[in-house]
Amino acid sequence: MSANRRFRSVARTGPVQVGTSYDGRGREKHTAACTAPRCGFSTDYDSRAAAELAARTHRCPVR
Ligand SMILES: [Zn+2]
Repeated sequence: MSANRRFRSVARTGPVQVGTSYDGRGREKHTAACTAPRCGFSTDYDSRAAAELAARTHRCPVR
């Protein structure tokens, strides 16, 4: 659902995209979102490292 949010610094790890965005109060947040249709995996993290780790370890159920 959140794949259309505006990200900057977007990177891809397999099917998972990691992007940095702002939460409206100017705070950065880092989102790992799977691009596979029907997967729906999308989680926000406080740190880029955590988001990238989640992207690397995501096991997509839809492949
Ligand atoms: Zn997935």
